[in-house]
Amino acid sequence: MINNISDNIKRVKDNITIAAQKINTDPQDIKLICVSKTIDQTRIIEAVKAGITILGENRIQEAKQKIADIKGKISWHLIGHLQTNKAAQAIKLFDLIHSVDSLKLAREINRQAEKNDKIIQILIQINIGNEDSKYGIPADDLPELLTQISNLQNVAVQGLMCIPPFNPNPENSRPYFKQMYQLFEKMKKQAIPNITMRYLSMGMSNDYTAAISEGANMVRVGAAIFGKRIY
Ligand SMILES: *Cc1c(COP(=O)(O)O)cnc(C)c1O
Repeated sequence: MINNISDNIKRVKDNITIAAQKINTDPQDIKLICVSKTIDQTRIIEAVKAGITILGENRIQEAKQKIADIKGKISWHLIGHLQTNKAAQAIKLFDLIHSVDSLKLAREINRQAEKNDKIIQILIQINIGNEDSKYGIPADDLPELLTQISNLQNVAVQGLMCIPPFNPNPENSRPYFKQMYQLFEKMKKQAIPNITMRYLSMGMSNDYTAAISEGANMVRVGAAIFGKRIY
């Protein structure tokens, strides 16, 4: 992999374009979330200069500093797990929260959003592989959770997110992506009031093109842009 951020971004965008065109989708309709967790500000700024407009972070504290320091027309997304006691901070920092996975958390986001006179856009995280190690709700619990969340006036569900079981071969992620797409379409048809099925957030560095070909319209890419993360 060439370790040049702008070259990497160009390559990722080209791959997105090719994957979208294969399924007759406008590449503009696929949103690239550049995952900047653990990455220092200098390199993030390089990515922004190369055309990145959405940054994904997974920790509140780290994101807070970056959001304060990095200027520009950037949309910040929370992609990592959110603890209920951090909801108050999260709603002030992020434009989209990808990781809502309980009614308790949705209610707290709603309560904080109401106080701040905001409507917070969220995605529901599905534990599509039913793994003990992953956050997210089982697919079967989604209809009930959406019905409950639909009553919350300051929360606006915009779609679904998942992290399938890790597998180095992206072909093995396809069955999970397919299940997610079916779930997404099914919920869209149900047309629950105040629930929008607009974004399907799935696919990371090693499988984003497979995810797009199965219907993802938001991909979260870190390592393919910045190189391997050093923790
Ligand atoms: C870290 C992370 C990513 C990006 O993973 P890469 O393999 O670096 O592309 C995407 N989504 C979530 C939820 C993550 O935590």
